[in-house]
Amino acid sequence: MRVVTSVVAMQRLARRWRAAGVRVGFVPTMGYLHAGHLSLVQAARRRVGRDGVVVVSIFVNPTQFAPHEDLAKYPRDLPRDRRLCREAGVDVLFVPTAEEMYPRPVGAEFSSYVVEEALGRGMEGVTRPTHFRGVTTVVAKLFNLVLPDVAVFGAKDFQQAAIVRRMARDLNFPLEIVVAPTVREPDGLALSSRNKYLSADERRQATVLWRAIQEAQAVVNHAPKPVTAARLKAALKTFVEREPAARLDYVEFFDADTLAPAERVTHGTHLALAVFVGKTRLIDNARLN
Ligand code: AMP
Repeated sequence: MRVVTSVVAMQRLARRWRAAGVRVGFVPTMGYLHAGHLSLVQAARRRVGRDGVVVVSIFVNPTQFAPHEDLAKYPRDLPRDRRLCREAGVDVLFVPTAEEMYPRPVGAEFSSYVVEEALGRGMEGVTRPTHFRGVTTVVAKLFNLVLPDVAVFGAKDFQQAAIVRRMARDLNFPLEIVVAPTVREPDGLALSSRNKYLSADERRQATVLWRAIQEAQAVVNHAPKPVTAARLKAALKTFVEREPAARLDYVEFFDADTLAPAERVTHGTHLALAVFVGKTRLIDNARLN
């Protein structure tokens, strides 16, 4: 496995692959890798085959964090990530520095952003208004550097995947976006680098996101007709906040393709929620079957 830290070196490699007709699969991450990330690596490998190359990037992207968010304390462990990537059969690990990605020469600071203007408004976009602008900007930059044929994202960040897909389509990035299923702990908690922030007690309470999804599923299963979203949202807020450390940020029901809010909830409606457990903000989502 090759570790690339410079933007120029990454671009040079990518151009060489493209000229040679080598298929490139790409998994962008912020590191502190877990089995969810590694499942994306496997999905990328399946798409490009043994003759293709799989690139993982690790970059804790400052532009997607608001000033009060956890950029400085976001968990990092590069030696461990490197080992996990090597064991997972990654060909190139791209680990650029913030200075390389966002150069700041005096008088010529970084000032160009990519903004998706429809899908990013609701849900995460309400609590984190500048978040998706940072995501689309860095993903567009990474696409330009890695020149992937296939890029794999996790369904865990459902709104993010939808936005990236829309951006790639709107801006004609010549690649396929694949969305891979959410990997969970045995008790249902979605794997996340941020789970590391949880105390033992918070970790137990954090299963409430998955339990709330199950609760919504049970309501839909037993209701003779579609349920009013507003009523179910209120019930889920009470359900979540029965855990002493949990505070519901939002729960939303929506159409999986358009992300348009659903007024009535039934089989096929998608559900997403964000919950503060102590100081840690966790998200999850699922389709109600
Ligand atoms: P992150 O490092 O959190 O920015 O995530 C990098 C990629 O991994 C994103 O596409 C995430 O959606 C995906 N991901 C994170 N957690 C999971 C999970 N539990 N299952 C599947 N994919 C995940």
